[in-house]
Amino acid sequence: MEPITRWLQTILDRTAQKAGMLTLFASAAAFGFGGLIGGLTVAPWVALIAFGLIGCTEIVYRQRKTQAIRLSQAKRHDQNSAAFESFLKSRPHWDPKEFEQFTYGGLQWKSIGFEQMPFPLAITGPFCPRCSNHLAERSEVIFPGRLRVSVFCRCGYGCHLRLPLHTLTDEAKQLAGVPK
Ligand SMILES: [Zn+2]
Repeated sequence: MEPITRWLQTILDRTAQKAGMLTLFASAAAFGFGGLIGGLTVAPWVALIAFGLIGCTEIVYRQRKTQAIRLSQAKRHDQNSAAFESFLKSRPHWDPKEFEQFTYGGLQWKSIGFEQMPFPLAITGPFCPRCSNHLAERSEVIFPGRLRVSVFCRCGYGCHLRLPLHTLTDEAKQLAGVPK
């Protein structure tokens, strides 16, 4: 039993530093519950199970939250219109043109380019399918770690997306025929 106890102690020492308050409270509650049901021989086991399971969930939740923040930052540094803007700078006499308006993922998009070119260089959007205004994005992490992305409009329209907005934008871009 001795090596196992020592191994467990090492694990607990390392994991306890990473555990959040929720895990510690839940483990305390599980210890109390286990003690009530099965006495002091059962209580530590129940507490250990709760500690391990809820600790994992809490860490996944934290990782997802970091991921959500990174995603929204990546979106801000979006390179979608970089090609369009560099063309506009180098050829100021060219005429910008709207190629087409299309619906993808339940949202509206527009492909843009120049009269002088046969294909679009970027897309704009997403726009509201109800009133065609710009949409705002919100990323939130719902416990225990599910990422929920939604868009909303000032007209009151709103929906949850099945993918992060920058992924949806990438796909819409490919569908519009924007070269990579
Ligand atoms: Zn709207």
